[in-house]
Amino acid sequence: MYQSSKAPRGDSPVSVIGAGIAGAWQALLFAQAGHDVTLHERSDEAMTLATSHWAGGMLAPWCESEVAEPIISRLGLRALDLWRRELPDTPFNGSLVVAHARERNDFERFAKLTTGHRRLDAQALAELEPSLEGRFREGLFFADEGHVEPRRVLPKLHEKIIAAGGTIQFNSEVAPDELAGLVIDCRGLAARDDQPELRGVKGELILIETDEVSLARPVRLIHPRWPLYVIPREDNLFMLGATSIEAEDTGVSVRSALELLGAAYAVHPAFAEARIVEFGSGLRPAFPDNLPRIAVDKTRIAVNGLYRHGFLIAPALAELTLAYVERGQIDNEVMQCA
Ligand SMILES: Cc1cc2nc3c(=O)[nH]c(=O)nc-3n(C[C@H](O)[C@H](O)[C@H](O)COP(=O)(O)OP(=O)(O)OC[C@H]3O[C@@H](n4cnc5c(N)ncnc54)[C@H](O)[C@@H]3O)c2cc1C
Repeated sequence: MYQSSKAPRGDSPVSVIGAGIAGAWQALLFAQAGHDVTLHERSDEAMTLATSHWAGGMLAPWCESEVAEPIISRLGLRALDLWRRELPDTPFNGSLVVAHARERNDFERFAKLTTGHRRLDAQALAELEPSLEGRFREGLFFADEGHVEPRRVLPKLHEKIIAAGGTIQFNSEVAPDELAGLVIDCRGLAARDDQPELRGVKGELILIETDEVSLARPVRLIHPRWPLYVIPREDNLFMLGATSIEAEDTGVSVRSALELLGAAYAVHPAFAEARIVEFGSGLRPAFPDNLPRIAVDKTRIAVNGLYRHGFLIAPALAELTLAYVERGQIDNEVMQCA
């Protein structure tokens, strides 16, 4: 899987472009390794221009293996260790997959396609998530999965970059060509000028607030038409997500809103009384094969195509990039060298 090559190691400054989840992890690991890192971000601290701002933040390599390639699980499993190491307060209390009785076949299919879970009967389910008592006959519990709240974790990562000696320049829109030294391009979909095969896959979400339901972990509802997850946030907030649409417009369609809200109601009728706090959408940066890529061209490295797994895999991609720069190590599954 690995081979060695001549990499651009040395003491030259490292510029990372884009402070979303990909760039934040790159800047952090390079700064911790003693490099002189500057992270440029065109957005302000609120990071609303980043897809990462709109994400669910699930760290779910086992659930995702239902649809994702094995490389995502490999990177994801390594990344879980890095999340634990850098942000030890990251909740790793698992995730839950449930289905109504009429979706039993799809539920069994999901169970067959994934590992890392154990089956819960109705009683065990209710012990784990009391709010779901009486709602489902069984569930799958993925005990080792975690989740982060993107809008809280990005600032934490940014703080850690500064604590490690790095610099962050917000409101700083730069082009890779105008920077000296090693440039790590993590511009997400904005990197299409260099990587025209990138496309955006739209994901819509709704944020709701209620104190009538309490969940400790993300809950995925299996459904043939509108699979949904509900992710608990602080302050009685829940994120309902997410659609996956081959389109690059913004906003939330009436159809998606109906489906997301309908599915939430199917998880728990008390969600019907929740207050809608926000509708939002983001474009997941994806290559045609939906796999991530670290593209190396001398002193320019582009890390992109994180698609629906940015939070899950960004730490592992940063570790691979650092291993390349410091030791010339190449991961043939993820890296492309010009
Ligand atoms: C609704 C939704 C739910 C999701 N849920 C999950 C989930 O549960 N788990 C998971 O792992 N992933 C999830 N994802 C996927 C994840 O959000 C993406 O994979 C990830 O955000 C991509 O990160 P990125 O850093 O590559 O891109 P971005 O987050 O878009 O970051 C790129 C940054 O570059 C900046 N930039 C662009 N051009 C310039 C420039 N010229 N100069 C300076 N800065 C620039 C942008 O402003 C932006 O901040 C979800 C996505 C969506 C839309």
